Amino acid sequence: MITGKTKICGIFGYPIEHSLSPLMHNAAFKDLGLDYVYVPVKVAPEDLPAAIRAIRVLNLVGVNITIPHKEKVLPLLDDLSLEAKTIGAVNTIVNCGGRLIGDNTDGKGFIKSLAEENKIKLAGKKVVLLGAGGAGRSIGVSLLKNNIQVLSLYDVAENKRRSLASDLRSISTAKKVKTLDRDELPAAIKEADILINATPIGMKPTDPAVVDPALLSRKLFIYDIVYNCETALLKTARSKKIKCANGLGMLVNQGAISFELWTGKKAPVAIMRKALTGKR
Ligand code: NAP
Repeated sequence: MITGKTKICGIFGYPIEHSLSPLMHNAAFKDLGLDYVYVPVKVAPEDLPAAIRAIRVLNLVGVNITIPHKEKVLPLLDDLSLEAKTIGAVNTIVNCGGRLIGDNTDGKGFIKSLAEENKIKLAGKKVVLLGAGGAGRSIGVSLLKNNIQVLSLYDVAENKRRSLASDLRSISTAKKVKTLDRDELPAAIKEADILINATPIGMKPTDPAVVDPALLSRKLFIYDIVYNCETALLKTARSKKIKCANGLGMLVNQGAISFELWTGKKAPVAIMRKALTGKR
């Protein structure tokens, strides 16, 4: 029951109809008996400044920010976490008594999924990251906070991989971050412990595996952050009995971290996952 005491969170995006976040958060509020509600709001690009001001006016607890607002929202906020600043994108806003703080929980959610759910130890590992767009940037920042040995970046867009490498070198030891040209990718994958797909390749059923399947060996752990289907990369990994995961864990855990920022309560991660998949 929604009353005058109910605390309001939500998500601003354009379009917004496809968002799975309301399912996940409202299930979590219900499970913990919290008097909160999570509302999806369609915000056109030209209305973003007014929508952000409305967070204060309407006393919203906080909101998630999704496409196409994640970068444009930065100058509208009072403060940013180090992650949000380095990534250059915000997916979570917390309203601290009228001060709007921007954070980015995507990379932290990825690490929780990789390290806690898949039991992968990151210290000393060699990681190849494919894709230096929004998701790749957040994953790169979080990986470097977890004491990996080396992060090798590849993106078809040379400007994006160089720009991400330069931003990551500013928060880490320069030699930990390498950029790869296409012809350097096979050797880097053969050397790697972890391969991450943060490109959209695999979202369409007709997409091929993002890298040559012949390069994949059982020494790797493969994390494909696409979550809407089983990608050709993951199908190959499973057929070769290579340990792997899809992007569902990242999706659930980035939401769980936002939930904890807004409520101060430990998120019921299994309930949030079940709300998305029907399975715990
Ligand atoms: P994005 O900003 O468009 O970035 C993707 C990057 O990958 C672009 O720079 C793109 O280059 C590059 N790319 C495309 N094909 C490539 C290839 N074959 N090899 C190397 N790089 C390639 O997209 P995003 O927002 O980062 O999202 C990427 C994927 O992650 C999407 O499928 C999205 O659904 C998924 N995602 C999952 C989660 C989760 O919680 N699991 C969260 C966020 C995103 P061009 O721009 O030149 O094509």
